[in-house]
Amino acid sequence: MMYVGRFAPSPTGPLHAGSLVTALASWLDARVHGGRWLVRIEDIDTPRCQAGADAEILRQLAGCGLLPDAPVWRQSERDAAYQAALDQLLDRELAYGCACSRSDVGRALRESGRDLRQAGERVYPGTCRTGLGGRKARAWRLRLPQGNLALVNWTDIRLGAQQEQVDQVVGDFVLKRADGLWAYQLAVVVDDAAQGISHVVRGEDLVASTARQIQLQRALGLPTPQYLHVPLLRDAQGRKLSKQDGSEPFIPGLHAIMRAARFLGLEPVGATLAEVLTSSLAGWADQRARWEATRSAQN
Ligand code: GLU
Repeated sequence: MMYVGRFAPSPTGPLHAGSLVTALASWLDARVHGGRWLVRIEDIDTPRCQAGADAEILRQLAGCGLLPDAPVWRQSERDAAYQAALDQLLDRELAYGCACSRSDVGRALRESGRDLRQAGERVYPGTCRTGLGGRKARAWRLRLPQGNLALVNWTDIRLGAQQEQVDQVVGDFVLKRADGLWAYQLAVVVDDAAQGISHVVRGEDLVASTARQIQLQRALGLPTPQYLHVPLLRDAQGRKLSKQDGSEPFIPGLHAIMRAARFLGLEPVGATLAEVLTSSLAGWADQRARWEATRSAQN
């Protein structure tokens, strides 16, 4: 199998030290496998995007020696592909229009006696599954299969066996939002498949999205890549760094890569960027093997 990996930043601001860790991990994983490494700008959530952040991100990556092997994709140019995927699901009755507002969902959950806190306030109770009852569709949702078919078992290269009963944890989730924007889950699944991504290496905050993405791959008849979620760099208070609050700007280059590599458990050495990246490659292969060994010892 040809290895194709990717780094998929949302241009909500420049990269911070935490997103550099993810970029480096995905780059190293592609390189140790002799694969290709792609960059995809995930700019569909337009209200959250910051003008110029995409160009700045590419400059930061280049300044750290992380150069994509193919032209950069932008999700804002992929509308037709997302619409085709939604149409395919609608044709097969695997997606449906939903007229519910947030408060409708809350009310339906309370009326059904479900504990909102336990349900994470996010489980869609399926109100519009059987029709809109004359109301107007605001959003589109995936119709999950029932019972065992909604159970997703997958293995993370670092974290090992994972399991999620998607209908109980999130329910029929949104593919196209009420504000007309494509949902991250749909765009990421369509693009990972269209770019032939074999390995998704990304931050651990996205572990919780993976079962939904696999469920959607199944509905669309798309292959499931292998997943590796790397630890998140946190600030001194233990909070995830976020591009939006301008966390931790870094100066692209040797020292930024050194720090990112050390955070991944590597021991980079060298006086130039090229040397540091090369020395990180050997360390990455060992670190990955250690994760895999720990995982198989647990399973
Ligand atoms: N665009 C997402 C983010 O910046 C990452 C998506 C992914 O790697 O699947 O958090």
